Parts: sequence; C-alpha cells; structure tokens
Amino acid sequence: MAVTENDPAIETATPIGVEVGTRTAYRTCPLCEATCGLEITLKPDGAGGETVQRIRGDMNDVFSKGFICPKGSTLKHLHEDPDRLRVPMAKRDGVHVEVTWDEAWSEIEVGLGGVIDRHGRSSLAVYGGNAGAHSLSSMMYLRTLLTGLGTRNRYSASTVDQMPRHVAAGHVFGSPVAVPVPDLDRTDHLLILGANPYASNGSMCTAPDFPGRIERIRERGGKVVVVDPRRSRTAEEADEWVAIRPGSDALLLAAMCNVLVAESLVDVGPHVAEYLNGLDEFAAAIAPFTPESVVAATGVSAEAIRTLARELAAATTASVYGRIGTTTTEFGSTATWLIDALNILTGNLDRPGGAMFAMPVAGGATTRGKRGSGRGFAIGRGATRVSGHPEVMGEYPVGALAEEITTPG
Ligand code: SF4
Repeated sequence: MAVTENDPAIETATPIGVEVGTRTAYRTCPLCEATCGLEITLKPDGAGGETVQRIRGDMNDVFSKGFICPKGSTLKHLHEDPDRLRVPMAKRDGVHVEVTWDEAWSEIEVGLGGVIDRHGRSSLAVYGGNAGAHSLSSMMYLRTLLTGLGTRNRYSASTVDQMPRHVAAGHVFGSPVAVPVPDLDRTDHLLILGANPYASNGSMCTAPDFPGRIERIRERGGKVVVVDPRRSRTAEEADEWVAIRPGSDALLLAAMCNVLVAESLVDVGPHVAEYLNGLDEFAAAIAPFTPESVVAATGVSAEAIRTLARELAAATTASVYGRIGTTTTEFGSTATWLIDALNILTGNLDRPGGAMFAMPVAGGATTRGKRGSGRGFAIGRGATRVSGHPEVMGEYPVGALAEEITTPG
C-alpha cells in the first residue's frame, strides 16, 4: 500500500471530522479479491513524510459502496509494522542487516547462481503465497522471474485452497480461470457449501460486503441454505443449515444431481444446450448415488437431500457456491465439478441470478476468442520427483514440497 506520494488526482478536500492539514487518498484494498475501495486519511509526520491517520471504506466506490472488513480497516498497522520489509536486508553472521540494492543483487547472484552452478536449475523451487495474487507487480513480473529461474518446481497456496475449482473449470468450461460466480444481487436462492463469507467475505467471487448481499437475498424473499459441518456464522444467518459430515460434499451433490435426473427436473436452458455434451454419460455416472445410498456417509437424510434438489430446481433463479470446505478434501475436484453440474442441470449457469462468468474488460478467458474454441485443459505435464504427484496449472501440490526438500536426489 503506497500512500505517501503526492498525487493531486487522488487528493480531495479535507473530509468533515478530519484534522486540517490532512489529505485523503483513495486506494483499493490489496488483501483479497473483493477489491474494496479505501478512503485513507494521511497527516504530515513532521519529518517530511506522512502517517496514516484513518482508513475507512470509500462510500463512493461503485463496487464496494463503503464496505470494509476488519482486515482492511487495520491496514494502517500493517503499513506501520516495524517488521515490514522496507529496505534490502542480508544476513551477516546470522543477523539480518540493511544493505544497498547493489549488495543485495550481488548476494542473490552468489546465492542462487551458486546453487544453480552446483546442482542445476531443477534444484530450485519457488513458493508463491496468496498475497502475490493481489499484487499488480507480482502479476506483471512473477512470470518473467519464474522463466528466468528455469525450474519446474513451482508451488503456491493454491494447492491447499482453490486448485480443485480450477481443475473443474478447466475440464468443464475449457479454461481453469473460467470460474462461474454466484450472481448474489439477483439470485432468489443461494446454496452455499463449505464457505463462511460472514467471516471471510467469501472468495473466488469478488463481492465486497458478501454478508450484506446475502441479507438482501432474504430481504427480497429469497432463500439462503448453508451446507457445512459446523454451525458457522453464515449458517446462523441463513434460512437453513444442513450439517454434513466433513469431506462428503461430493456424495451429497451427486445425490442431488441424481434426484434432478430421476424426477425429470433437468432443464439446462437453450443458452447452454448448444454447448453441452455428455449429459447421458453424466446421468449414468451418478445413477448409483441415490439419496438413500449417501445418508450414512453424509449424515444428511434422504428427504433433506431431495428437498435441497427440488428447491434448487423450483427457484426462479438459483446459484450453488462452494469454497474451501469443498475443495480441500479428498474429492475436492469432484465436488466442484458437481457444483458446476448442479448449476448447469437447473438452467442456472451463466444467466442472471445464477452462476455467471465474469466478463473482465480485457485479458480474461471469458472475453477472449470465440465461444466453443480453445486448446482445452490438461493436467499432469510433469510430476513431483519423490511421489509422482501430477502438475496442475504449471505447479505441483505444496503438500509435496517438504519431501522434495528433505529427500536427497
Ligand atoms: S473484504 Fe476486507 S480484505 Fe477483502 S478487499 Fe475488502 S477490506 Fe480488503
């Protein structure tokens, strides 16, 4: 968060209730994809710089409309944290000390270059944290750095988070980043699995004030159902909470699809029908997963499963949304694929009030090329050295990183 430059374009008159001599900067919160607008009040620090006096939601932000979560409002502490890296540091005699940039680059050359010279480029590994996904510089330059390093040992937080979402999107829609998101502001029925947006504000969705949007679904007469092993804050605020055994979402979802097929409730809609194939094979695949067959594993009664499916089909518009509770499980990709299947079978894929594809202005998988074209999606273009875990989206599962480090060879 850079807020010290003097950019007149982002300055305004001193807001009411704020000290004279301060200025206001408008920024976007970099902590998650909700991209909330921030109004940051800065005051001179007496030494030629500025300090952050206050951070609050930007009421005029067309997207977040003043919403800010506790993480965003405490960015001041992050900005002023004495441990935040502000200058290059190098370790001398076991202690980090400040060095010049030239010294830092020399250290990197000796360190990385030495490892490459002694052991080759495949001895390097890169781990990317979540913050990189919300950083413009990381998005612009990380690929160049990775190419320069020349190692295929790439890991990130994605493989302990949303990677199954990408795998399912790749196989179903042809691109791992073509992820349908719930149309919260227009849906009549929201089925949430393994997500707690009242605590997290949601993810893989980009919705500032996700809780407020849920409340407005109910205010306009819609229904919100939460499937979660835990009575989360979101479950408490929903119309209905379905307590499921952990890790069994795929079975519940398969049984719901089974009900839709068995009761002839499938109606994908003409906008999807021309792009859809494999419906008969899908119906055959989920035929064994009757509601009765999954009761023991899921802990959800057969009647409750039928009601979940029937209500989804009967809603004027509906959207099924699954997050980390459905992806960080043994059958995460299958569960996510079945979430897509439910949205498709009920005619809610890519229609207002359903699960819609984002349409970025430029560079998005959903705004490039022609519909029905593309190279498709593949995984397994390589495998980890020790246990042979397959590559996905150019990286390996981070759960394998420790053994890759500790196993000689
Ligand atoms: S939800 Fe919170 S962390 Fe995410 S962008 Fe908004 S203020 Fe930042």
